[in-house]
Amino acid sequence: MKAGRSRRANTVHSEFGLIRRLQAEVAQPDPQLFKGIGDDAAIIKTSSTEWTLITTDLLAEGVHFDPATSSWRDIGYRAAIANLSDIAAMGGTPRFMLVSIAIPPTCSTTQIQQLYRGMMQAGAPYHVRLIGGDTSASKTGLFLNITLTGVVPPRQALLRSAAHIGDPIYVTGTLGDSRAGLDLLMSRQRPKLRAIDTRFLLARHHRPSARIAEGLWLVKQGLGGAAIDLSDGLTGDLRHICEESGVGAEILAGSLPVSPACRAYAKARGLAPAQIALQGGEDYELLFTVPRKKQSRFERLVGKTGFHMTCIGLITPQASGLGLKSERGTTQPLPLTSYEHFLRPT
Ligand code: ADP
Ligand code: MG
Repeated sequence: MKAGRSRRANTVHSEFGLIRRLQAEVAQPDPQLFKGIGDDAAIIKTSSTEWTLITTDLLAEGVHFDPATSSWRDIGYRAAIANLSDIAAMGGTPRFMLVSIAIPPTCSTTQIQQLYRGMMQAGAPYHVRLIGGDTSASKTGLFLNITLTGVVPPRQALLRSAAHIGDPIYVTGTLGDSRAGLDLLMSRQRPKLRAIDTRFLLARHHRPSARIAEGLWLVKQGLGGAAIDLSDGLTGDLRHICEESGVGAEILAGSLPVSPACRAYAKARGLAPAQIALQGGEDYELLFTVPRKKQSRFERLVGKTGFHMTCIGLITPQASGLGLKSERGTTQPLPLTSYEHFLRPT
């Protein structure tokens, strides 16, 4: 059970329900605040030429990572990518990082140094600078919180709320690799795969990419509509775009990009590749819409970039909900199968 503990009165059951409640009860507007709770990063109108993005992510040992199956360096790397990916989802450029850690007695200085090396390595391509943080002891495993700032030109950020009916939906890269890699790490009886496929899936889990270049390109070309990064899995993250934009969506199962290694893994596990792609989790790919009228320009330009971007469906009216169209042409509701922290067996 991910979040431990037995059921009690007033126990938190839904991460997103709790956030919505906090947003309604506690959050307050501010003239400098363009976007508060509800997107991948908050947006602050800091100057007439540049707006500031701020995002934060908390990782808990045993919930988000396990030092038994990942190196400390990889744990740090993935933690930084989780934040970099949120800046990518806004179409921003990452800038400054603050890191807070609560360290259990079992952790050595060398391990913490490795953790930091991983974090700094992930930020290095973007010249991310560490500017502060906080340090505490922990009685129960390591806690790691990263706060990352970024910048974006005024009014150019890619918002979850910018999808419109008729807009095509795209995704970068391939889906499900990280989830497959995690399963390989956790399984006592690993499915028999070629060594090259196993290596690929493990690397995609330990060393995911943040799609900073893709987000920047969408903003620069003026081609982006709505965007979110895929941290929880396509079905859950698409839901956030639909809720924030007040629309529905139809996903074409046959169009979901799945790597050859993940296909081999799905076959060995007796699963449909689309199932893994939809559930995913920690892919850190971008899910975005392109305004309908800009689709042909987008298609023309994307071919010249070398970016891997696949059209996987269409934004529909809100009343249609979220649907999954099979290759046979039948549509069924998109199942809610992505990761939710507080979901427990009933
Ligand atoms: P992401 O997966 O992109 O990191 P989350 O789903 O974690 O985004 O968060 C969605 C939104 O809710 C974000 O705007 C985030 O800042 C906000 N949020 C999450 N947890 C809290 C919290 N405990 N208090 C206030 N805002 C929160
Ligand atoms: Mg995000």
